[in-house]
Amino acid sequence: MLETNHRGHFIVISGPSGAGKGTICQELLKRDKNLVLSISMTSREKRDYEIDGKDYYFTTKEDFEQKIKENYFLEYAVVHNNQYYGTPKEEIERLVETGKSVLVEIDIQGALQLKEKINDGLYIFILPPSMRELKKRLIKRGTESKEKIFERFKKAYNEINEVSHYNYVVVNDILEKAVEKVEAILLAENCRVDRIISLDLGTKEELLHEILTDEGE
Ligand code: 5GP
Repeated sequence: MLETNHRGHFIVISGPSGAGKGTICQELLKRDKNLVLSISMTSREKRDYEIDGKDYYFTTKEDFEQKIKENYFLEYAVVHNNQYYGTPKEEIERLVETGKSVLVEIDIQGALQLKEKINDGLYIFILPPSMRELKKRLIKRGTESKEKIFERFKKAYNEINEVSHYNYVVVNDILEKAVEKVEAILLAENCRVDRIISLDLGTKEELLHEILTDEGE
């Protein structure tokens, strides 16, 4: 009796470096075949295990800057180590066409830019359980120098104040629980009243008549 629209969501998952947003997204994609991930473009070096066109679209700094001029990106930011990261407009257009929910995993600067442009998206902020835990996670990665970790942590600490611009906040203490919370958010969003297309109750007189005559049981 209830017909709702099944339009995909535009989901932006963001948060400080070390909060675990990437892992949460990978887990969500495994579980929900109705989700598609936006692939960003970056000017940073490709890591050995990464695949161009799957993990990122890798390009040069010069090409990225040219594309900025051409208004190629929906958002972009200098995230780490003076390298650009951005969401190509055509990537999002392509994914929206699939009718599935589009998942965008980006840093906080980028998410705030998107919020200005796409207000009806779902903006989810991933928080670490504590700043001390975040510090531990950044150190544990072991891939960067002390100076870089120091910078990442300082940036993360300052950026957390931006949480008020988001619609939802999820603490990533235990991965499984955090993923379940995001799934619950999506489920709740599917039940929003503004997704109703039509509500067919049947004819009142007919139904009332059935009560009086014991028909239709
Ligand atoms: P990575 O470890 O891959 O070099 O850096 C990942 C960081 O860049 C993460 O914080 C991730 O959210 C962010 N990032 C990835 N793609 C984009 C993007 O398209 N735009 C923005 N603003 N940040 C991105």
